[in-house]
Amino acid sequence: AKNAGRNGYRFFDAAMTVAADERLRMEADLRRALTNGEFVLHYQPKIGTASRRLLGFEALIRWQQRDGSLVAPARFIPLAEETGLIGAIGEWALNTACQTLQRWRAEGLRNLSMSVNLSARQLRNPALPAQVQGALARSGIPPERLEMEITESVAMEDPARTVEILRELKAIGIGLSIDDFGTGYSSLAYLKLLPIDCLKLDRTFVTDIETDPNDAAICAATIRLAHTLGLSVVAEGVETVEQARYLDGLACDVMQGYYFSRPLPEAAARAFIINGVRG
Ligand code: C2E
Ligand code: CA
Ligand code: CA
Ligand code: CA
Repeated sequence: AKNAGRNGYRFFDAAMTVAADERLRMEADLRRALTNGEFVLHYQPKIGTASRRLLGFEALIRWQQRDGSLVAPARFIPLAEETGLIGAIGEWALNTACQTLQRWRAEGLRNLSMSVNLSARQLRNPALPAQVQGALARSGIPPERLEMEITESVAMEDPARTVEILRELKAIGIGLSIDDFGTGYSSLAYLKLLPIDCLKLDRTFVTDIETDPNDAAICAATIRLAHTLGLSVVAEGVETVEQARYLDGLACDVMQGYYFSRPLPEAAARAFIINGVRG
């Protein structure tokens, strides 16, 4: 078993082992992060287009390292999803977001909503409706103040099943949004069946909205379609005043993006509520 061919193979095996070790180490790190409380939520404002008022926030998770640096969700959510750890991480995020909103409400900072992102595995977990009800009961926030965001591609993995699950969530009274809209391949027939309230227009269409006629046409058509179906539209990734004005012209309902604010740590989000929105 020690000929040259085998050597080649052994080298390959060794590389595979390193990758697997690395994965195991990261999985252990993620587990530890959860028990040590190393995850934090940042909150990005959602702004009413016509009113220019703060409507609420989207909770976005970060992994805070011991040196204070933050790891972006793109670097750990996929592994959390693969390993199933997303179940516990997602439930933590749901409860934490609800509790933060309730703290603000208790201070008199009312009429705000909180949006929480749902992964594919969370959506398929039969315990999800009970988890949502638990989070609402523990925090005491009214169901209509909580929204959940499901990406279009996750929603369309198994559209019939998605309809069932979303109906259960809708029965609780929470809001439901389709995230990254326009990047998946929704069938309009299913879109009509989904008990949703809102489409979130993906940032890729917003970025060049003033210069790319195709992007502008997609945004205009999506907004018209959504309004026809009785849905509101949130534009993601609004970075400039020109984009905000263009979306205003298309009667886009809500805007979110760096132009108004980056996602903020809890204390800064609270200050944003108090200080108000830029023009
Ligand atoms: P998403 O739900 O589409 O969130 C929007 C992302 O765009 C966020 O990235 C946000 O920080 C970023 N963003 C907001 N405004 C702008 C802008 O004007 N310009 C640009 N360039 N980017 C903007 P983030 O926080 O890194 O999150 C990335 C993704 O990770 C999210 O995409 C979401 O899919 C996922 N994610 C975040 N938090 C959670 C969570 O608690 N649970 C789950 N399952 N997924 C999460
Ligand atoms: Ca989202
Ligand atoms: Ca999105
Ligand atoms: Ca996205």
